[in-house]
Amino acid sequence: MSTSQELRRVRDPLAGLETPLQRGTASEAYSLLNPAYTAVITGAGVSTDSGIPDYRSPGSPSRSPMTGQAFRASHNNRQLYWARGYVGWEHYRQFSPNQTHYDLAALNPASLITQNVDGLHRAAGSDPVLELHGSLYQVVCLTCGRVWSRDWMQEQLAGLNPGFMTSATVAGGDVEINPDGDVELNEVTGFRIPDCPVCHGILKPDVVYFGEQVRPQVAAAATQAVEDAESVLVLGSSLAVHSALRLVRMASREQKPIVVVTDGPTRADDLATVRVVGRVAPFVAGWRAELMGD
Ligand SMILES: [Zn+2]
Repeated sequence: MSTSQELRRVRDPLAGLETPLQRGTASEAYSLLNPAYTAVITGAGVSTDSGIPDYRSPGSPSRSPMTGQAFRASHNNRQLYWARGYVGWEHYRQFSPNQTHYDLAALNPASLITQNVDGLHRAAGSDPVLELHGSLYQVVCLTCGRVWSRDWMQEQLAGLNPGFMTSATVAGGDVEINPDGDVELNEVTGFRIPDCPVCHGILKPDVVYFGEQVRPQVAAAATQAVEDAESVLVLGSSLAVHSALRLVRMASREQKPIVVVTDGPTRADDLATVRVVGRVAPFVAGWRAELMGD
């Protein structure tokens, strides 16, 4: 089976959903959300103001993300990923947190759970952050499980591929960073990738690809965070993936207030106590102002 055939098997769980009507107001939402007892779940909509594209936002071009199966399946796929990632990283590492990341760090909710792999909550000062889908800032060995920093990997790639960065030609001519931190390249043959320095296993970005499971410890910590919380706030996520949706369903079963803020449809619209249809940034800025003043 070719890679493109595998990639096409990723179905869109949002197909057929329409943007719901607003239910309740931001003020009503704030009254339900005491940060000290709130679990916040964030998605791509929180990072779009930092320039990181959300491939689910209206009007964005359709693309086929790498699957874990495809990454494991062949050296060629890994070569393709790392060549793109090598060039893309020089741009990706320059993304910086936006006001919403800083507002959330200041609000310091009981727990911060994110589907984003961009590391921007940490960069804004939030700690701890439960990264459901891992982080592009780390690389993991598929055999021994050891973890290295993405910058270490970048040094290895640079050493193995002298001159590649300057000779790489980007498809279409313009550098356009994908949400996975890579770019489309015209030519990747001959690109060399390092293996694990300890066990010679395959090195993979420490992110959960489509078709992969969230790490059990991370999933358990997220479950605990929502169990401990008195309310749940979902920001900028369509909850298309089960790893986040299940947390909201759990809160719903426990009859906890749920606030969902995003401008498109989500899979939990019928579970929301308050459903704000709009951008995340003004909602979070308003929450901070309500509690802390301007
Ligand atoms: Zn290893």
